[in-house]
Amino acid sequence: MRGKCLCGEVEFAVSGTLPNLYQCHCSLCRKATGSSANAALIVPSENFQWVGGQDRITSYVKNTGYRSDFCSKCGSPLPNPLGSRAEYWIPAGLLEDNANLEIAAHLHVGSKASWDAVASSGVQYQEAPDLVSLLKVLWKNAGA
Ligand SMILES: [Zn+2]
Ligand SMILES: [Zn+2]
Repeated sequence: MRGKCLCGEVEFAVSGTLPNLYQCHCSLCRKATGSSANAALIVPSENFQWVGGQDRITSYVKNTGYRSDFCSKCGSPLPNPLGSRAEYWIPAGLLEDNANLEIAAHLHVGSKASWDAVASSGVQYQEAPDLVSLLKVLWKNAGA
């Protein structure tokens, strides 16, 4: 499975079974995406590979630790490693194929925008579960 930014210069590949998606509706993800929520997947680092355009990656880290990587040419959000864990965070909209993925979890529903209608599929969390619990939810029925 390939993924690309809007201009196409940054490209990556994901292999193996893909977990389901989550959406985070928090105020930071709204700023980072310019929309109601992000939609992303978290894959093991060994299943993620850059194909090209890595010199275009710009990284912004807020003083809270919130990180957003983006393409310096077109502004698309880009994959980035999740803290010190062996996982990569990938914006779902960059994937070239929908691969029957579904949203399995909605985070920070308690602080969503008033105009945000949360999709009916997926567990809704008022805030966010810890990463290990979230990963369990995302991998349940993955690839089904
Ligand atoms: Zn780009
Ligand atoms: Zn968020």
